[in-house]
Amino acid sequence: MHHFDLPAVGTCPGRSQVCESVCYATRGRFRTDKVRRRLRWCLRQSRRADFADRMVAEVRSKGALVVRVHVSGDFYDAAYAAKWASVFHRCPVATFYFYTRSWRVEAMTPVLAQVAGFGNVRAWYSADAETGMPESLPEGARVAWLQTAVDEPVAGNLVFRDDPLRDARPTFSLPLVCPNEAPAGQRFGVNCGNCGQCWRQ
Ligand code: SF4
Repeated sequence: MHHFDLPAVGTCPGRSQVCESVCYATRGRFRTDKVRRRLRWCLRQSRRADFADRMVAEVRSKGALVVRVHVSGDFYDAAYAAKWASVFHRCPVATFYFYTRSWRVEAMTPVLAQVAGFGNVRAWYSADAETGMPESLPEGARVAWLQTAVDEPVAGNLVFRDDPLRDARPTFSLPLVCPNEAPAGQRFGVNCGNCGQCWRQ
């Protein structure tokens, strides 16, 4: 599983107060100097005019089959998202997946809708109690809901639960909860590589 990441929050124009307040990418190892330096370096690379060409070369030379775009950070503007559209298009053997709240930024809507329709892209629009569901969802996109309160109604295709909720019994039926965040999934060692819910289909 390969990934490319950016500094969180500053590169997330569609962020909500809800997601920012519980963002895992502002905690733990993401606060170490090493990781912060690396993310700042990645951001500089992403601004280069030849970013897409270099990323295509990297994906091909590494034989990457699954690439997660942004474990931290997001598509910070339409030009940057268009660079990734070029990468997706030129690397048809690899599967790319991402979660984004940039769907909330009007200027980003066309390019996100375009890539959501690519056969090798799994696009997840991130939502929460503050954003609500996207009014329209392009073909191919699905919704990942961030649940931050145990009695909060949820929607979408997949639920991520904030840390304190992970052991809590849901009070109503939930869509699929990420098994990596559920006690049973953790007991059986489920991770993104052996789960594949987000990127296989
Ligand atoms: S463990 Fe599965 S559902 Fe959870 S993020 Fe990874 S691929 Fe998606």
